[in-house]
Amino acid sequence: MRKVLNAITVDVEDWFHICNIETILPPSEWDRCESRVEKNVTKILEILSKHRVFGTFFVLGYVARRLPEVIKMIAEEGHEIASHGFGHTQVYKMTPDEFNRDLTRSKRVIQEVTGGQVLGYRAPEWSIRRGRGNSLWALPILAANGFRYDSSIAPLRIIGIPSASRKPYTIQTDHGKIEEFPPLVKNTWVGNVPIGGGWGLRVFPYGMIRKAMGELNCQGIPAVIFLHPSEFDPDPPKIPLPVSKRFVCHGKIKSTEERLERLMVDFPFGAIREIYGDSL
Ligand SMILES: [Zn+2]
Repeated sequence: MRKVLNAITVDVEDWFHICNIETILPPSEWDRCESRVEKNVTKILEILSKHRVFGTFFVLGYVARRLPEVIKMIAEEGHEIASHGFGHTQVYKMTPDEFNRDLTRSKRVIQEVTGGQVLGYRAPEWSIRRGRGNSLWALPILAANGFRYDSSIAPLRIIGIPSASRKPYTIQTDHGKIEEFPPLVKNTWVGNVPIGGGWGLRVFPYGMIRKAMGELNCQGIPAVIFLHPSEFDPDPPKIPLPVSKRFVCHGKIKSTEERLERLMVDFPFGAIREIYGDSL
């Protein structure tokens, strides 16, 4: 049986790109904050290089503008560069016009830096969703701007669409189709839990994550793992975050590197573009 290639993805943002902390650290202060992206991205690149794996890096336009050399370094190592938007605003907080501007600005900045095509998008905090704060209108805007795939719909309560598929699927829009690539979650008695990245990847037992990925792969389905540079930073700058954010951002932070190393040994990984191949 052919081995299934899983997606390793990184949201390239800085330690202060945390949603809903505008009152603690407004975007107008970002330029004054120390950037720790380069150091942390370098660690991720070293691990991927050691395992000869190429990944997909969803780059925030703000980071591409401030640190173009870091994005060039990622691209020159052969990784896929995709978009994480420009200003790290959740999609449902923008109007369709504002989203269109944020999206095209990020794509333009990234393409100026790398000279390559940008085919994929991931919204900050999985913010393409339905119901309260419906933002599914973003999908045709992505297609109209030449994006071929999206990784913004998490099959999760509160921040996502709990009933959304846990497998990759195709969405038809008025401007063409979009391939949707959801993050790895595990179905439990309390609903789906995020085990493919963030606090979930750090906190849940590794055996549980490996089993969930193995089960998907047995069905021929790739899993999506997602990482953030700040999760490779054991001593980030301190700001007065609410307790819940402190846990989400920093809880068991040292385990990310160990989890990534184990995943790299246990499963084959690649970039999303590599997984889709010519069908994208
Ligand atoms: Zn983000």
